Amino acid sequence: MSCDLPFGSWLSAMQAALRGEADAEVPCGDCTACCTSSQFVPIGPDETDTLAHIPAELLFPAPRLSKGHVLLGYDERGHCPMLVDGRCSIYEHRPRTCRTYDCRIFTATGLDVDAEAEEKFDIAVRAGQWQFSFPTDDDRRRHAAVRAAVRSLHAPSITELAVRAVESHEDFLT
Ligand code: SF4
Repeated sequence: MSCDLPFGSWLSAMQAALRGEADAEVPCGDCTACCTSSQFVPIGPDETDTLAHIPAELLFPAPRLSKGHVLLGYDERGHCPMLVDGRCSIYEHRPRTCRTYDCRIFTATGLDVDAEAEEKFDIAVRAGQWQFSFPTDDDRRRHAAVRAAVRSLHAPSITELAVRAVESHEDFLT
């Protein structure tokens, strides 16, 4: 499956999403892997529109974060409770985390999301299907820098390591 995006273009868009400047534009199709993989979705107190569209009983305080930060959990199947009939029922109001989530970050970094938890198997399958194109030397240089960042950096989770590698890859450009 192709992203139809050169690597450098995807990387720029991913960095903008991580800075909160734009939503991640992921061609998900019918895939709902990230909504059905037993993931807690953190929501900040500033996300008032999102919070207004989620029943309070589905939210609980986020451990180790200050007052007002909450988590949206998942049901006994590992599904987000806002996923209804295979679609996000609050799509226009979805949390910031959902707006910036892009499973192609695992393809880009070469990190095996499935190694973190078997509930993430569907995300790992999806990530394994993406393919980037590398039409210029800059695409190849940036890809190598992201991979070098992964080898050098440390983080408490695969996802955080992938994010840090994307955010700081320019320090690893040769
Ligand atoms: S809020 Fe919507 S996009 Fe986010 S995990 Fe739930 S169903 Fe998926």
